[in-house]
Amino acid sequence: MPDDRTKIDAALRAARDTRELEIGPGVLGRTTEVFRRQFPQQRAMIVGDRNTMRVAGQAVAKMLDDDQPFVFEDEDLYAEHRFVERLQGYLATRDAIPVAVGSGTINDVTKLAAHGHRRSYMCVATAASMDGYTAYGASITYKGSKQTFDCPAPRAVVADIDIIRDAPPEMTASGYADLLAKITAGADWILADALGIEPINEFAWHTVQDGLLESLAHPLDIEQLTRGLMMGGFAMQAMMSSRPASGAEHQFSHLWDMEHHTHNGKAPSHGFKVGVATLAIAKLYETMLRFDRIEAKGDASVAPTTADIDHLFKPGELRDKAIEETRAKKFSGEHVKRLQRDWPELNMKLRKQLPAIQQLPAMLREAGAPTDPEQIGITKERLRASFRRAYHIRRRFTILDALVMTGLLDRCLDQMFGVGRLQS
Ligand SMILES: [Zn+2]
Repeated sequence: MPDDRTKIDAALRAARDTRELEIGPGVLGRTTEVFRRQFPQQRAMIVGDRNTMRVAGQAVAKMLDDDQPFVFEDEDLYAEHRFVERLQGYLATRDAIPVAVGSGTINDVTKLAAHGHRRSYMCVATAASMDGYTAYGASITYKGSKQTFDCPAPRAVVADIDIIRDAPPEMTASGYADLLAKITAGADWILADALGIEPINEFAWHTVQDGLLESLAHPLDIEQLTRGLMMGGFAMQAMMSSRPASGAEHQFSHLWDMEHHTHNGKAPSHGFKVGVATLAIAKLYETMLRFDRIEAKGDASVAPTTADIDHLFKPGELRDKAIEETRAKKFSGEHVKRLQRDWPELNMKLRKQLPAIQQLPAMLREAGAPTDPEQIGITKERLRASFRRAYHIRRRFTILDALVMTGLLDRCLDQMFGVGRLQS
């Protein structure tokens, strides 16, 4: 098995935008040399918030000789388009390379703002809270709905483990949950590949999946966790698609974002939503894998119609999105037949990908992440309804599609939630 640095170097060679990743304890001191290598002759402009300026931003500003850092003072800062616009306005006044010092929000806001000026940027990571650092695209709320905007990944990332280790524990727990999601995301890709819908890209697959269980077995190893998350981002960057790192479990998170879900007045973190959803999807896999054979209706006549969508969504943006994405789905009776024919072999493959379904809750718990949907304000009834709704909001083929096209989803959900109770 290649060592960690070899893996990172391979990922960098395949990366579209990122040329350098400095990761390890104490690497903050190398920020200057990284910046000079990537942006010779250019000036740096630090972007942070009050908190990230304190933990690393001030030091970086000093190193890179920036006496006018851009600091978001807002208490309610989140990845919203108005913050991107504000930063873009400031960038227009300075001929400098943005250096994002922070985690998900600061990185995504800077990524999109820099792209607005067709400038590359660099990132100094302050928490292992999600896998977006090295990913292509930024997840930003625009006109009330969360969207992924196309924009390049950073040219370079500095991830000082001494700083990341001191991040609030719930941020690290979120990152752990986002990494755990790669188990079900991988299972979904195996399904899509087996049915000839979306072939597995070997490089991206290995970048995410090799060593994954090993990293997950050590929730306290912050360096391994950070590296795992960076690798997820690299895989997405290489494919310019989130497929390698995101499956049905992420669709639950997107759905809850689009429903503007809050708990105790604020939106639960990406990782917390994804973690709870990973358990739900793993349970769905467990239920499906108990089938010796797939007793489908034979053709894809069970494919949902606009009437089904009308039943599930009120008129509005979410319903429009559901119609658009459902129409873009590309499965047919042929895929149903193929799933039935290849099920014994596929069942074994999926069991290998999902070796420890019963242990997943304990793993999340140990990492400090929620396991019960109620902990993030999602009732059991809503969780059950989310399986159908999540299916509709993304065209990506997942276990939800496999069960909808065979007419088996409700049967599985009845087994998971109990028949007659918890009606959606
Ligand atoms: Zn994620």
